[in-house]
Amino acid sequence: MSKGTPSKGLRNKHSHIVCRRCGRNSYHARHKICSACGFGRSARLRSYAWTNRKPLRA
Ligand SMILES: [Zn+2]
Repeated sequence: MSKGTPSKGLRNKHSHIVCRRCGRNSYHARHKICSACGFGRSARLRSYAWTNRKPLRA
Protein backbone atom coordinates (compact mmCIF):
# COMPACT_ATOMS: atom_id res chain seq x y z
CA MET A 1 0.00 0.00 0.00
CA SER A 2 1.20 3.49 -0.78
CA LYS A 3 1.76 6.23 1.72
CA GLY A 4 -0.94 8.47 0.35
CA THR A 5 -4.59 8.99 1.10
CA PRO A 6 -5.65 5.29 0.97
CA SER A 7 -3.38 4.32 3.88
CA LYS A 8 -4.83 7.04 6.11
CA GLY A 9 -8.03 5.02 6.26
CA LEU A 10 -6.25 2.47 8.47
CA ARG A 11 -5.59 4.97 11.22
CA ASN A 12 -8.70 4.23 13.20
CA LYS A 13 -7.25 3.19 16.56
CA HIS A 14 -6.71 5.64 19.39
CA SER A 15 -3.62 5.28 21.53
CA HIS A 16 -4.62 8.33 23.54
CA ILE A 17 -8.12 9.05 24.79
CA VAL A 18 -9.56 11.98 26.74
CA CYS A 19 -7.99 12.15 30.21
CA ARG A 20 -10.54 12.29 33.00
CA ARG A 21 -8.24 14.40 35.18
CA CYS A 22 -6.91 17.08 32.82
CA GLY A 23 -9.45 16.74 30.01
CA ARG A 24 -6.81 16.56 27.31
CA ASN A 25 -6.68 13.82 24.72
CA SER A 26 -3.49 12.46 26.26
CA TYR A 27 -4.51 9.48 28.36
CA HIS A 28 -2.91 6.35 26.89
CA ALA A 29 -5.64 3.74 26.63
CA ARG A 30 -3.31 0.75 27.00
CA HIS A 31 -0.60 2.19 29.25
CA LYS A 32 -3.20 3.87 31.49
CA ILE A 33 -1.02 6.92 31.85
CA CYS A 34 -1.72 10.48 30.79
CA SER A 35 1.17 12.01 28.89
CA ALA A 36 0.03 15.53 29.69
CA CYS A 37 -0.70 15.50 33.44
CA GLY A 38 0.79 12.18 34.57
CA PHE A 39 -2.56 10.75 35.66
CA GLY A 40 -2.08 7.05 36.41
CA ARG A 41 1.59 7.60 37.22
CA SER A 42 1.57 10.13 40.02
CA ALA A 43 -0.87 11.87 42.31
CA ARG A 44 0.72 15.20 41.45
CA LEU A 45 0.29 16.97 38.16
CA ARG A 46 3.10 16.34 35.72
CA SER A 47 5.07 19.52 35.18
CA TYR A 48 8.58 20.39 34.12
CA ALA A 49 10.59 23.61 33.98
CA TRP A 50 11.33 23.08 30.31
CA THR A 51 7.66 23.49 29.42
CA ASN A 52 8.21 27.24 29.09
CA ARG A 53 4.57 28.06 29.58
CA LYS A 54 5.39 31.35 31.27
CA PRO A 55 8.48 33.12 29.91
CA LEU A 56 11.10 34.07 32.45
CA ARG A 57 11.79 37.76 32.93
CA ALA A 58 11.75 39.60 29.60
ZN1 LIG B 1 -4.26 14.06 32.05
